[in-house]
Amino acid sequence: MYALKYQQPVTLPDALKSVEGDAKFLAGGQSLIQAMKLRMTSSSTLVDISKLSELKGISVSDNAVTVGAMTRHAEVALSVQIQQAIPALAKLAHGIGDPMVRNMGTLGGSLAYADPAACYPSALLALAGTVQTNERTISADNFFVNLYETCLKPGELIQSVSFQRPLQAAYIKFKHPASRLAMVGVFVARYKAEVRVGVTGCKTYAFRATQLEKLLSQKFSPDVIEGVELPWSDMLSDIHAGAQYRAALITILAARAVEQCLAS
Ligand SMILES: Cc1cc2nc3c(=O)[nH]c(=O)nc-3n(C[C@H](O)[C@H](O)[C@H](O)COP(=O)(O)OP(=O)(O)OC[C@H]3O[C@@H](n4cnc5c(N)ncnc54)[C@H](O)[C@@H]3O)c2cc1C
Repeated sequence: MYALKYQQPVTLPDALKSVEGDAKFLAGGQSLIQAMKLRMTSSSTLVDISKLSELKGISVSDNAVTVGAMTRHAEVALSVQIQQAIPALAKLAHGIGDPMVRNMGTLGGSLAYADPAACYPSALLALAGTVQTNERTISADNFFVNLYETCLKPGELIQSVSFQRPLQAAYIKFKHPASRLAMVGVFVARYKAEVRVGVTGCKTYAFRATQLEKLLSQKFSPDVIEGVELPWSDMLSDIHAGAQYRAALITILAARAVEQCLAS
């Protein structure tokens, strides 16, 4: 790595002041440090946000679960509050990477990084989430913009993320065998008036499978989506899975997620 400055502010105003020029926030470092080592990105200053109390904590109300941006994946997985309110979210966090990644990686870092194969983006979309930054509240549907790109402005800090509590939900991931990131990941959430389906691993950024949502909102049963072919011309294709294969997996995993919801 190139030499760089490291800062660890303890107050939010100091953190926001420190992040100027090409400085970047450092959360769990599980994505950023690797990207810097590979020269995919660079920064002359890293601003460690792990000491900021405004970014910590989990709270649950009748309608929503709110999680601080610095909450580690392992904390989400082990939170009894989250396990009771949205068990699928705790299960998703438990399936991320390996113990080291789960003990270091954070919810805010994962969403800000917007890896096309990350798990949380599908949950944010399916659970009608909102991202609270130091400047504004951003709805899930507007958050992801492109490959590794969100609508966050330079220096904008995610403070917390809220998820709407569903009646039932399930996340199913077809894992990459080495990294355990999603080759395809589908999060299905059932609400009183609608069903939402968030998909990751298939396009340059996470999206909602609206065709499946419409069918499942009419009847919440795996049969109604059986054999549904989703358009695949804009899906990712690599040595692990072709675009058409990924598209077919979305429907299959969504049906399995519905089965899991119905069995819960
Ligand atoms: C081996 C391995 C396996 C993995 N497997 C999975 C997996 O199965 N599923 C999965 O979803 N992910 C997986 N990941 C990614 C992992 O979840 C990362 O922890 C996560 O993507 C980044 O979180 P972080 O806290 O480490 O962020 P960092 O690496 O510290 O930061 C990432 C980016 O987000 C920015 N950032 C961080 N926090 C904030 C904030 N609060 N506000 C604004 N910007 C911020 C940083 O400036 C940086 O640009 C894996 C990673 C590794 C190394």
